[in-house]
Amino acid sequence: MEGYASANDISAVVEADKKHVWHHLIQHKMFETVDPRVIVEGKGLRVWDAKGKEYIDAVSGAVWTVNVGYGRESIANVVRDQLVKMNYFAGVGGSIPGALFAEKLISKMPGMSRVYYSNSGSEANEKVYKMVRQISHNVHGGKKWKILYRERDYHGTTIGALATSGQAERAAQYGPYPDGFVMVPHCLEYRKQWDVENYGERAADAIEEVILREGPDTVGAIVLEPVTAGGGVIVPPKGYWERVQEICKKYNVLLHIDEVVCGVGRTGVWFGYQNYGIKPDFVTMAKGVASGYAAISCTVTTEAVFDLFKANSADPMSYFRDISTFGGCTSGPAAALENMRIIEDENLLDNTLRMGKRTVDNLNALMEKHKVIGDVRGAGLFCGAELVADRKTKEPADEKKVAAVVAECNAQGVIIGMTNRSLPGLNNTLCLSPALIATPDDIDAITGAIDKALTKVFG
Ligand code: PMP
Repeated sequence: MEGYASANDISAVVEADKKHVWHHLIQHKMFETVDPRVIVEGKGLRVWDAKGKEYIDAVSGAVWTVNVGYGRESIANVVRDQLVKMNYFAGVGGSIPGALFAEKLISKMPGMSRVYYSNSGSEANEKVYKMVRQISHNVHGGKKWKILYRERDYHGTTIGALATSGQAERAAQYGPYPDGFVMVPHCLEYRKQWDVENYGERAADAIEEVILREGPDTVGAIVLEPVTAGGGVIVPPKGYWERVQEICKKYNVLLHIDEVVCGVGRTGVWFGYQNYGIKPDFVTMAKGVASGYAAISCTVTTEAVFDLFKANSADPMSYFRDISTFGGCTSGPAAALENMRIIEDENLLDNTLRMGKRTVDNLNALMEKHKVIGDVRGAGLFCGAELVADRKTKEPADEKKVAAVVAECNAQGVIIGMTNRSLPGLNNTLCLSPALIATPDDIDAITGAIDKALTKVFG
């Protein structure tokens, strides 16, 4: 793409941005020396900035969101038609796209039954926390009110969601937090906490230990990412999920799977938990649900959970007393329905498995050459390479150097990610999550850029 805007237009845009936009996730001081990158156009896996520079986007919109790629006219058309006909009515009623998308979604989630709409991953998770608390009040006489979460997992930015942040640095400056949120250990085998053979089972047993310590009658639910995203692309070890399911059953603890990143195809199946044959009570999703073409998140529950909120219980006011104003926007489910059609019609789940394998194979091949790669992990098109200063001691690579690799890829026109200032001393994993439409050439270009960048930064 050439000459998207004249030099004047660009400087006016950048100036307006620098003057008035408060950017997410960044120390603004840096914009005193560097201009913000303003992305103005996208097509497929590629994006262009206001200066006309082309990039391969290997992280689907920076935070693993644009699953079906940029420039999808069919989504734009469906949303346009829907908006002209009926854009919004509060979610207390229903809408055609809301009903049709819920039906379609549930058809891909055997055992699940009800879809509650809101706008962001954080919000979808908050809904579950509120439901768990209400179940505690209405069903358990105030018991089973605690919610467990896992070290290194992340569930959003609101105070409740941050109370379940397994990433200490993200939560550090926003306390105090509400009571009743308790952390369990992470399950990353590369950074073993127990010297045992069946690591997966052992890591899951650590959850049982926390339940017993807290008292089983105080613990109502546990929230887990199927594959931990920003915490370092952690694919749980064999045996982990089976044991987690057993423990939840044994102590009557509701299982909440946060699919905000893994949901809707990212790992090569519709939902990450479906890789492991587990049966959740709650599933939350956001980013890839409509690939960023509209804001939508979903809190999905079983019919058994839903039944606990029906007004035929002893207290007619025991319904879920919650609303999300923009849960009544029709653009979200309309875009989400078309997004699912694209994934099905273009066989993107199969492509994700094939391209995910290619990514991991390429990264593993780079391990020969680059001793700084300590571990390669992946599930579908969701891959990570952990960089270490020393393979034996596993001392993490210097965070500044990891950031330099990301910057060097960027200079080469490939946008990649890294665990971003959220884990003290462990922001050393490169993250890749290109759109599910990636081709073999795209994957090779992405890992090729990483190869060059590693040579430049680490020699
Ligand atoms: N859960 C997970 C696993 C996430 O990665 C994120 C966002 N990165 C969230 C929840 C929060 O989503 P949102 O930013 O839409 O609130």
